[in-house]
Amino acid sequence: MKVPLLDLKPQYEQIRAEVEPVMLEICKSQAFILGPKVQECEAAVAKYCGAAHGVGMSSGSDALIVALMAEGIGAGDEVITTPYTFFATVGAIARVGAKTVFVDIDPETFNIDGAKLEAAVTPRTKAIIPVHLYGQMADMDAVMAVAKKHGLAVIEDACQAIGAEWKGRRAGSIGDYGCFSFFPSKNLGCFGDGGMVTMQDAAKARKVTILRNHGMDPKYYHHEIGGNFRLDALQAAVVTIKLKHLDGWTQARQSNAARYGKLFAETRLVEGGKVKLPAAKTSRHIYNQFVIRAENRDGLLAHLRSREIGTEIYYPVPLHLQDCFRALGHREGAFPESERAAKETLALPIYPDLTEEMARWVVGSIAEFYGC
Ligand SMILES: *Cc1c(COP(=O)(O)O)cnc(C)c1O
Repeated sequence: MKVPLLDLKPQYEQIRAEVEPVMLEICKSQAFILGPKVQECEAAVAKYCGAAHGVGMSSGSDALIVALMAEGIGAGDEVITTPYTFFATVGAIARVGAKTVFVDIDPETFNIDGAKLEAAVTPRTKAIIPVHLYGQMADMDAVMAVAKKHGLAVIEDACQAIGAEWKGRRAGSIGDYGCFSFFPSKNLGCFGDGGMVTMQDAAKARKVTILRNHGMDPKYYHHEIGGNFRLDALQAAVVTIKLKHLDGWTQARQSNAARYGKLFAETRLVEGGKVKLPAAKTSRHIYNQFVIRAENRDGLLAHLRSREIGTEIYYPVPLHLQDCFRALGHREGAFPESERAAKETLALPIYPDLTEEMARWVVGSIAEFYGC
């Protein structure tokens, strides 16, 4: 049986009757840039995330860049994050000219280790970017305590975590900024690239809004240098429509995770130490990915691919060891938990339309590989 890592076609069928007339309406209006569809989307996403303001962006990567720009972060400044994240987190810090200071991850959650955070603060530190990896929020108590003590901005990289909660509070509502991505593989994806920054503070929201459109306020009067970081009306309309379905899809992902728990328990894979399942340590894990640790991970990966089961390694090379960041001067061994995660982790299909039969085939194929 073929099991893709992600299949968005059944989801499209579900929303097609709602989406297609709105797409046509926008095409007929020929009003594509910003405007009421984007405003509607911003208000809806901000409300969903428990934030006072939302500003639509061209992508999650650009959301991170603009949040850093809004804080005036640049050359000579340091920003703390983890080396075990998607490239864009650290790419954004480099793009504004600042230096990334890495803190290793907690091996249970794959998120920044709160206990190691404060030791990374220097007089040059300006911000912390906690990444809510795989759909589970980072230790926001530790992050906010260190930020408050040292006067640092907090930019949540919530690109994989829309609707995730830390002690009942949503991703993007706790830090100064929440950065979201509507890339199609995220839990709330559009039909191309898109993103958003959420904030509680009105002055910050205004600054982000101006930076998004070439630092222009009013039209053709530029007080600072921004860029074209705009979300367009077609993408915004898709996000607004899909948002109404998001809680149902999240529930399906959570049920799929629970089902994997049951199916693995029917094997000896976990107790035999072949496989370690992800730990849900926070009040709402939204499972953008279901990532296991596996003995002989690369062997298992090849086996699953031979069985036409979609898997992926998120991420095979921690960022401190990437070629483009060699100027930071890190060597292998610098962040052992991130390096170990990069060698052991493997994502299994978890998307909402995954069937019980598919999940059984996935777990059965893993059991077959280990002979148990
Ligand atoms: C997807 C993602 C991004 C970037 O979002 P894009 O919309 O693809 O630019 C940033 N950080 C993390 C953790 C992501 O998963």
